[in-house]
Amino acid sequence: MYKAALMAVVLGMALSVTPVAGQRQSGLERLYVLNCGEGIAGDISRWSPGVNEGKSMPFVDNCYLLKHAQGWLLWDTGVADAIAAMPDGLKPADPRATHWHRPKTLAKQLDELGVKPADIKYVAVSHTHPDHIGNVEMFPQAMLLVQKDEYDWPGANNQPRFKSEHPVTKLEGDKDVFGDGSVTIIATPGHTPGHQSLLVKLPKIGALLLSGDAVHFKSNWDNRGVPAGNASKEKTLASMEKIDSLLKREKANLWINHDKAQRDTLKMSPAYYE
Ligand SMILES: [Zn+2]
Repeated sequence: MYKAALMAVVLGMALSVTPVAGQRQSGLERLYVLNCGEGIAGDISRWSPGVNEGKSMPFVDNCYLLKHAQGWLLWDTGVADAIAAMPDGLKPADPRATHWHRPKTLAKQLDELGVKPADIKYVAVSHTHPDHIGNVEMFPQAMLLVQKDEYDWPGANNQPRFKSEHPVTKLEGDKDVFGDGSVTIIATPGHTPGHQSLLVKLPKIGALLLSGDAVHFKSNWDNRGVPAGNASKEKTLASMEKIDSLLKREKANLWINHDKAQRDTLKMSPAYYE
């Protein structure tokens, strides 16, 4: 009799203990997809050597704004807002590259959400190509989250890639940004020496992997196409394998930054995902 009563008490305690030991409360609330550019890639074989030579293809450029209880995080900043004022957009020096337009500035899209640039706590960029870092200095107070290998990579004429006074955390590998497992930077070198992607776990729709330029469009992902201009083919392929196993382990969807067909299926800001 006594034993049974004790068992009931123990069982009751076990059932009432929440959350389960080791499980952390996530502070991630929302994700907004911002329009950070639209363009035409002059020759898509630049990104998929030997495939579709000479064919052009529409490209898009996304930024993602995350609302977390500890503060806002902006993932990538797109092409420069100044391009919005150029009637014919920004023509590339190499006609095979992407001719960018900016239908809407990043500043305007943040303003529409009531978010001031000074409210942004973290700016994390996938890498330092101009279509990703075009507006980093709109957020001079924000902590930059960049791989050390990218930060230290000499730019044109040996120039640094960021202003030396901009606050920065130089990462060496993966990083759980808020300490609750909801937003994790994933080191995916190859496109550039310190390229990174972002694993996001939203409370309702679940896990997403934001590609940066670890992959540029879906057929390139399916065929493991490596752009000719990537810093390292071997590292690119290894990063694709890392992403593939992460997608399986986390049951995550891959959101490919420049893939227009995929973006056409997404809700754009001010709508959001949670
Ligand atoms: Zn890009």
